[in-house]
Amino acid sequence: MSLFKNLLVASALLLPFNLFASAEEAIDSKEEKSGRRYCSLQPDTLPDLNPDMDPGRLGLIMVNRTKWVNGTTLRYYFFDKDTDGAFALNRRGQRVWRSWKGIKADEDVVRAAFTEWMGLGIGLKFEEVDDRRNAHIRIGFMHGDGSWSYLGREILGFGKNERTMNFGWMDHDTAVHEIGHTLGFPHEHQNPKAGIKWDEEAVYADLKRTNGWNREKTFHNIIRKIAPDSVQGSNWDPHSIMHYPFDPGLILEPEEYRQNGLTPTPGLSERDVKWVKTFYPALTADELALKPGSSLQLDLDNGESKSFTVAVEESGHYQIETFGVLDTVLVLFDSLDRKVAADDDSGQSYNARISAVLLAGAEYKLGLRLYYNDHSGDVGLRMIKL
Ligand SMILES: [Zn+2]
Repeated sequence: MSLFKNLLVASALLLPFNLFASAEEAIDSKEEKSGRRYCSLQPDTLPDLNPDMDPGRLGLIMVNRTKWVNGTTLRYYFFDKDTDGAFALNRRGQRVWRSWKGIKADEDVVRAAFTEWMGLGIGLKFEEVDDRRNAHIRIGFMHGDGSWSYLGREILGFGKNERTMNFGWMDHDTAVHEIGHTLGFPHEHQNPKAGIKWDEEAVYADLKRTNGWNREKTFHNIIRKIAPDSVQGSNWDPHSIMHYPFDPGLILEPEEYRQNGLTPTPGLSERDVKWVKTFYPALTADELALKPGSSLQLDLDNGESKSFTVAVEESGHYQIETFGVLDTVLVLFDSLDRKVAADDDSGQSYNARISAVLLAGAEYKLGLRLYYNDHSGDVGLRMIKL
């Protein structure tokens, strides 16, 4: 199914649930009724980085800052209480309550999308939980609020009663697309390497008409080029699951899309699969052990992620830190893949360092993603008992 297929089928399915709603509540937003429904990526929370930094280093931080440490188990939760929802204005300007709870059929579409990503053989796992306090990804189904997600690790910045993902409509490719954002992938049509030249006024008018978007929202999600450093790879993939479809008349160049519009092939593209496996390769069993009083040299490519086993013979307070000139994110997990401690020194002059009380006999795993290594000397990890 196409990402933004006509809503007729979905509307028909939803009708029975609207029977008891008032006329006001039954009014859906424009974007859910239009034939072209566009995800609106939520605004970035940009890190506070020194703009004079070496551009190569800045670029690596921008690409990798949203990516999870490989080996992370991401837990997702569907809002399930009657009090989960928000007030919204309907088209008559009236305040109406809209629930975040979804129907099982829609939740199942999302579950299948998680399974599809995991089935690619990546190093991340997804697990559904029924307690929002244990979830990274909290999913709502609020009608009239569009379909959206925050980007990658940005979702950690929200409280347990806040959504990190919403579905204002549902189809398989939309679910795969929103999860793609949560894995840290931005919109492909904003890739500066795409070389798309827009008929900007036509785009503003089209999005106003079809989705009810103002200029600011359209600029953020379509016209704006993502900083070259924030996208991975050197080319453009018009068939990415992260690419919107466009009607004829919106793209001026490349010429081939001016007349015919652009319709990405449904589903994950070859390049989507290649990139997700680049950032999140399948885990191997040859993890190195990090032991108290010892250090390990790191021989990783920029952007690469690796995990290590950590075990102690004596319970106590331990410190794990990197050494050398490098930027990393470190995350220590317990045997149930829950985060024990984490640190991120990207763009800073100090090294990443975590300290935690570790128990003898317990199994821990340390995940590390290298943003940047200036190759000026030895870099590595060490562990000490405090
Ligand atoms: Zn999107």
